[in-house]
Amino acid sequence: MSQFDFAEAFEQARTAPDVTDRATGLEEADRIGGVALVQARLHGQGAEFCADCDEPIPDARRKAYSSAVCCVDCQGLREGRRNG
Ligand SMILES: [Zn+2]
Repeated sequence: MSQFDFAEAFEQARTAPDVTDRATGLEEADRIGGVALVQARLHGQGAEFCADCDEPIPDARRKAYSSAVCCVDCQGLREGRRNG
């Protein structure tokens, strides 16, 4: 998935004139970007709970990285996974 696909799906959903389209669109955005990312966008801030382990994300991290959707530990795991 790419951030662009998610942003596009989210924006289409958010601006849909019909509430059913909006709900369907948000589900689609969920599928692409994950629930945490949708929640984060809707609230204009980072996710409150880690998308991977459901631990609360500290306020300081959410302020520093407004788009963070997972905790420091899981972020490290994600990046480690990506690198090899
Ligand atoms: Zn985590």
